[in-house]
Amino acid sequence: MKIYIDGQLFEKDDAKISVFDHGLLYGDGVFEGIRFYSGRVFRLDEHIRRLYDSARAIAMTIPVPPAEMVEAVLSTIRANDLEDGYVRLVVTRGVGDLGLNPLLCPRPSIIVIASKITLYPAEKYENGLAVVTCSTRRSPHGALSPMVKSLNYLNNVLAKLEAIGAGAGEGLMLNEQGYVAECTGDNIFLVRDGKITTPPVSSGALAGVTRGVVFEMAAEFGIPLSEPLLTRYDVYTADECFLTGTAAEVIPVVTLDNRPIGDGRPGPVTRRMITRFRELAGSTGTPIRA
Ligand code: PMP
Repeated sequence: MKIYIDGQLFEKDDAKISVFDHGLLYGDGVFEGIRFYSGRVFRLDEHIRRLYDSARAIAMTIPVPPAEMVEAVLSTIRANDLEDGYVRLVVTRGVGDLGLNPLLCPRPSIIVIASKITLYPAEKYENGLAVVTCSTRRSPHGALSPMVKSLNYLNNVLAKLEAIGAGAGEGLMLNEQGYVAECTGDNIFLVRDGKITTPPVSSGALAGVTRGVVFEMAAEFGIPLSEPLLTRYDVYTADECFLTGTAAEVIPVVTLDNRPIGDGRPGPVTRRMITRFRELAGSTGTPIRA
C-alpha cells in the first residue's frame, strides 16, 4: 500500500508523521472520507470544497490549491492500482511545539490513504439497522462548529461507543436543545406520508455530500423534501427512516430505541433511494485514469 504525504508516496510502514504534529497533539486538522467506484471518484469536487471550507473555518491555509489536492487524491489511487475503494484525505495543522498555538506550525501536512472500506454487512442494506439515542450531544455551533469535518471526533467516538454498547448499528445524536442532529457518522432522513424530511445543518448536522445526493434524487423522483426541526417523536412516528454517508451510502433504519419505525422493515422510498444511489455511484464521478 502506498500512502501520500506532502507530495511523496511512502510504503505503509514508512508512512509516518511527527509526534509534534498538532493533528496528533490536539486533533487540530480537517479531513474527508471519499469513495470511488468503477474507476471514478464520486463527488470529488464537493469533498474538496468541504475540505477547504473546513480548513478556512479553523483558520488553516492549505498549502496547495484545490486542483493539486484533486491530483494528489487521483495519483494516490492510481499508485495503489485500485478501481473501487475509499480515500481518507487528512490535512493536519503540521509540526509545532507543545503549546496550543497553531501560528507556530509553519506548514500543514497533507496525507492521502487509498484503501477499502466495508462499514456495514450487505444484510443490513436489506434488513435495516437498529439505532439508539446517545446521551452524548452533538457539539453546539458556539463551540467547534459541527459543520467542520475536523480531526476532533471524540464527541462522535464517545457516542459511537454508546451505540456499540447497546448493540445498535448507529447512534442518534441530539443537539443541546434536544432536536435531532444526525448519527455519529451519518446524516438521517425520515419519510412520512410520501414526504422526506432531514434536520437542517443549523441543528448540528454535517452538510453531508451523500445528504446532498439524496436532495437531488428526491427532486428527480418528485418527492417533496424539507428541513424542519425534528425530534425523536418524529423518528418514532415516521413511516421510514434511512441514513446517508460516504462510507454507509444509503442504509435503512428499522428501529429507534427499540421502537419499530413504520412496519419495522425498510420502506419503498428508502429502497428506491438505495437503488438510484448505486446507479449514480457506479456511473458518475471524476475518472481516476484520464
Ligand atoms: N455526519 C458526520 C458526523 C459524518 O462524519 C459523516 C461522514 N463524513 C456524515 C454525516 C455524512 O457525510 P458524507 O455524506 O459527506 O460522508
